[in-house]
Amino acid sequence: MISFYPGPSKVEEKISEYVREAQSRGMLSMNHRSPEFIDLSRKTLEHLREKLNVPDSYQILYVSSATESWEIIAQSLIQKNSLHLFNGAFGEKWHQYTQKLCPKAAIASISFLPDQLPDLSAIPQAPEMICITHNETSNGSTLPTPFLNELRAKYPESLIAADATSSLAGVDIEMSLLDLCYASVQKCFGLPAGMGILICSPRAVEHAYQINERDHYNSLPFLLDKIKDYQTTYTPNVLNIFLLMKVMESRPAIFEVEKRLRQRSQLIYKVLEELKQFKALIENPTFRSHSVISVKAKEAIINRIKSKARASGMILGNGYGTWKENTFRIANFPAHRDEEIQKLLHFLKAFDSSIL
Ligand SMILES: *Cc1c(COP(=O)(O)O)cnc(C)c1O
Repeated sequence: MISFYPGPSKVEEKISEYVREAQSRGMLSMNHRSPEFIDLSRKTLEHLREKLNVPDSYQILYVSSATESWEIIAQSLIQKNSLHLFNGAFGEKWHQYTQKLCPKAAIASISFLPDQLPDLSAIPQAPEMICITHNETSNGSTLPTPFLNELRAKYPESLIAADATSSLAGVDIEMSLLDLCYASVQKCFGLPAGMGILICSPRAVEHAYQINERDHYNSLPFLLDKIKDYQTTYTPNVLNIFLLMKVMESRPAIFEVEKRLRQRSQLIYKVLEELKQFKALIENPTFRSHSVISVKAKEAIINRIKSKARASGMILGNGYGTWKENTFRIANFPAHRDEEIQKLLHFLKAFDSSIL
């Protein structure tokens, strides 16, 4: 069975080998304060920095998930106000949690259509934090780099936080345009679920220490203090850290990973244009995600293709949120092989032409 679910998804093919290696090297009962762990953690962070082009001045933290990053950013970095720009379910949830976690702050939002950009003229002044979803997994849309440039140029004083859960490690994200960037590992990293990565710019670090919120086990200043010694505030997912180290060690540079995903996503979008029953949910190519492709059709056809795909050994992702019934989603992640994408496209074409 090949999972094209946009997370959890297909894991890297060598994962079972790596798990055996982890066991034989004693990783499964390793103490998280031991010199062995510190060595593992240091190597993992080095590979992440190198392969994802993270500037030396940025901090990389281990967290438990992307969802936890919503909480960390709200509790430790938003004192006065934040602005959430979203066009789908994940960005909207982040906004909702932030409202609840920051009752004393002014939490504003601008929602926009997935085929458009948010209207920045509506923003009155530089917010303390601007929250964007780099790749909206619920509808397969992405924010293009020129928009990130514009946002950075227009709001040099604001901190910019990006949920890149389904693009980090798949797409080359220009970190210098962002102050916070996070992802869970079950998407483009090709790992089993249960961990996340949170990247912080020097300005984000400075802001965290300025506010100095230390009421929670995952308060950002605690996490930052601990990572100086390559450690975490709680017992981390050591197995997943080991798997992350192995995966990042063997990955090519991110621009090469992105090139491969782009070539394949272009192929997928091209095939979709040829089909009668299906089309890409995102019509404007500028906003089409390379890692998550959302496909629209009539509800009855969506149900049929999902069960037909299963019978052919492929799991398609359900629609999500507003698009639950009339879309399915395809993960085009680095762990997927080119032949697997070909098999899926073959199947789509055959299914489409079988329908009168
Ligand atoms: C998957 C996803 C999340 C949630 O990830 P968890 O690991 O469940 O916390 C958040 N945001 C986006 C954009 C996602 O794709």
